[in-house]
Amino acid sequence: MSTIELEQITKRFGTLTAVDGVDLHVGAGEVMCLLGPSGCGKTTTLRIVAGLESPTEGSVMIGGRRVNELSPSARDIAMVFQFYALYPSLTVRDNLAFPLRAERLAASDVNARVNQVADTLDLRSVLDRLPGHIAEGEKQRVAVGRAIVRDPSCFLFDEPLSRLDVELRQQMRGKIKEVLNDLSKATVIVTHDQLEALTMADRIAVMRDGRIEQIATPHEIFARPANLFVAGFIGTPQMNLLEADIIELDDEKARLSIDDQELLLSLPEPLINTPQLEKLTLGIRPRAFELVSEPSPTTLSADVDLIEPMGSETLVHLVEGGRDIRVVVDGDMAVNAGTRLAFRPRLHQYHLFSNDGRRLLS
Ligand code: ATP
Repeated sequence: MSTIELEQITKRFGTLTAVDGVDLHVGAGEVMCLLGPSGCGKTTTLRIVAGLESPTEGSVMIGGRRVNELSPSARDIAMVFQFYALYPSLTVRDNLAFPLRAERLAASDVNARVNQVADTLDLRSVLDRLPGHIAEGEKQRVAVGRAIVRDPSCFLFDEPLSRLDVELRQQMRGKIKEVLNDLSKATVIVTHDQLEALTMADRIAVMRDGRIEQIATPHEIFARPANLFVAGFIGTPQMNLLEADIIELDDEKARLSIDDQELLLSLPEPLINTPQLEKLTLGIRPRAFELVSEPSPTTLSADVDLIEPMGSETLVHLVEGGRDIRVVVDGDMAVNAGTRLAFRPRLHQYHLFSNDGRRLLS
């Protein structure tokens, strides 16, 4: 079973450090998504695994073997790019067969393998067509098929779905996940689309400025973001991050001042990393509020500014002290601009961060 390991990988382009001391272990059969904003070093990291770029420092291991000195073709990996280059003059069948013929497999073995991959990816009906005569989603599946047909030891995907429209993306996310589950190979997928990462990954590595901010399961990343950056980056609509002064803090409660309003929070557990804490940031996802009829010490109040219907839900932008607070309410609920609402975080459904960004709840 193959694994991918990066140990202290750094890549510099002149004075720019694109990847900065990255450690990453992708287990056998594991799907790891590298997720992060544009320019954070995702693609460079993937290219280093592929051997298309050499690291300035650090080791790349595939299947427990150091591969830094091996060429891409000697690493036994398959890569699917955003721009899938299919051979336009070859049929789908021949496109799929190409990597096998290059390995001089017997014709009967090539046929059997191509048919098997075509079945896996629902491509049987288009096997004899040219790429120019098939749909965009089918082209994408042929590109994936060409990668998996060879049975490499691991897979690398670079923004594999970014060229597809919303509906196709949704279908392909599910399909790729299904195929990868069956293949049980170490896989790295680069994406800046968090939905893609949340649905396809076994674990996600969130990157910023060449570094990994958190590596965890999609659930863990969403439920317990390790720091302010991950909290703000993951989740749509974005988590509210409210800076607060601490009026009182003990193991069971925190009394905070937010834009001159006081808020009493009951704590699920004593905070960690709190020496001389005077301020903190309260993180609340827009779906983690409850609206209440009367203000109280456990509520905040703000004025309704903008209302965005989203089908079964409505995103309400509230404004208080120049700050935008996003709250998602049931689509059936009547909300009017200009009215003042009282709301509170649902019990323990909030996050606390120190001002330098560290998570304060375990
Ligand atoms: P995107 O999502 O936009 O593709 P990314 O997270 O994949 O971004 P990279 O493509 O890895 O980011 O780029 C990381 C940084 O390294 C960027 O600042 C980029 O401009 C720079 N960079 C990448 N390749 C080179 C290169 N060959 N020469 C110089 N700088 C480079």
